[in-house]
Amino acid sequence: MQFRIPELLFSRTKLISVLTVILICAFTFTSYFSYNVTQEMISQKTKTETLPLISDNIYSEIQQELITPINGSSLMANDSFLINWVLDGENNETEINQYLKRIKEKYGYFSTFFVSDITHNYYYYDGILKQISPTDAHDVWYYRFRDSQVSYALDVDTDEATHGTLTIFINHRLVDQNGNFLGVTGVGLEMDSFGKMLDSYRTRFGPLTYMVDANGVIQVHPDLNLVEKVNIRDLEGLSGLSEDLLSKKTGTNIFEYRNQQGNIILSARYFPDFDWFLIVEQNQTQAMGTARESLVRNLGIGIGVTILVILLVTLTTNVFYSKLEKLAVNDELTGLYNRRKFSELFEREISIAERCNEPLSLLMIDLDRFKPVNDDYGHPIGDQLLKEIAGFMKQEIRDIDVISRWGGEEFVVLLHKTDMEQAYEVAERIRKAIQVTHFVADKGGISKTVSIGISDARSSDYDMERMISLADKAMYLAKQAGRNQTRVSPPQAA
Ligand code: GH3
Ligand code: MG
Ligand code: MG
Repeated sequence: MQFRIPELLFSRTKLISVLTVILICAFTFTSYFSYNVTQEMISQKTKTETLPLISDNIYSEIQQELITPINGSSLMANDSFLINWVLDGENNETEINQYLKRIKEKYGYFSTFFVSDITHNYYYYDGILKQISPTDAHDVWYYRFRDSQVSYALDVDTDEATHGTLTIFINHRLVDQNGNFLGVTGVGLEMDSFGKMLDSYRTRFGPLTYMVDANGVIQVHPDLNLVEKVNIRDLEGLSGLSEDLLSKKTGTNIFEYRNQQGNIILSARYFPDFDWFLIVEQNQTQAMGTARESLVRNLGIGIGVTILVILLVTLTTNVFYSKLEKLAVNDELTGLYNRRKFSELFEREISIAERCNEPLSLLMIDLDRFKPVNDDYGHPIGDQLLKEIAGFMKQEIRDIDVISRWGGEEFVVLLHKTDMEQAYEVAERIRKAIQVTHFVADKGGISKTVSIGISDARSSDYDMERMISLADKAMYLAKQAGRNQTRVSPPQAA
């Protein structure tokens, strides 16, 4: 055989390592590839379909929700009763209270109010709340609105009439027939119910919805703590794009940013009616949850399959290699060590013997007249006999001794720590035993004697070739002397 076992074992380890790397790489690559494709698909779908659609839905729902109170406050501002009541001197307080109360109840507003620019009274559905003053911080809204040119505006503030409930006020300018400013009237919507409405969008559609004013200050948010307190310009990730966001007042605009929660895709749409922006945010990292689960599952399956394949390959190669290993060191017919393996062991033995100055003997055993056995009884019987005699000889020697099939019907036996004299005894015992033993292949009259030649390490100068050659010569002498006998190698025969 041309190959060596260590090389084979090395290539097996290499094969398994390469296979493991290929499988793991393939699984990891395909899993990540499909994950990335899914991520890209989800991201594209969110940007082009899902988010604009949800945003449009919410936009029209909010508009509906706010248009009614905007119309309500406009109706109040154009109501001739209110204008006349002011122009008549704001005499009957009960009348205005009843008026505000009636509208509040009829349309289900959280509050209704009128602030007179003449008397500075703040009327609400239950009486006069206060007298507004430019020095009262809470009344800043009034003066700001009065000085603005707009006919109506939304303003988020705490409502003093209800002990500070966060309210969206829709303020409308009240003017007489000549356009003289009379005051501000309007309705209030409870922020809490608005927050709940935005929260319900989140449950229904998934994304977070909130509104900011033209400056970026949060006006409506499911988390009431952020309202009027946080500007998107100061938010992580959003700050960089808020200028761009607040400047785009047409259509639905899509942005993308990262914060601690993950990758966010954002849609912004401007409400021209009340100068606010509707913002709908989808957390892509959360949306990718299922894809990530399937990535982990795919990788798990990949590792499982890899382990299984490697196990199978290891098992198969183990069987294959152990067979190959046997073939490489054992003779196929007799199962004894072949010449190559014998030489390997012989080399070791002889060097130990030399180093330790120990005796070591070699028997060269050749079956007598074996050719006629094949000729007379056929090759299979010859084979059978060879096999049986080999097995028999192996039993006759110690485990520490090494027996090998040297070639055809020739065997060599290395006798560990055995001198020539002891070797002769062993040889003779073997020779005689073979002669009298009944083998299965023995059909009577079959030749089963052996001729044996002996050499020893010391007289061969611890040289393997020489030792074999001497044993061979001694064996030849035994043949010449009539076969079925043992001869020791005389040193001068070398
Ligand atoms: P001698 O006493 O001189 O050794 O006679 P011999 O016939 O044994 O010697 P020779 O070397 O002429 O023949 C050896 C024979 O052994 C030749 C071959 O038929 C036989 N032989 C060698 N190997 C095998 C084998 O694997 N199987 C069988 N059946 N026969 C073998
Ligand atoms: Mg021979
Ligand atoms: Mg022979």
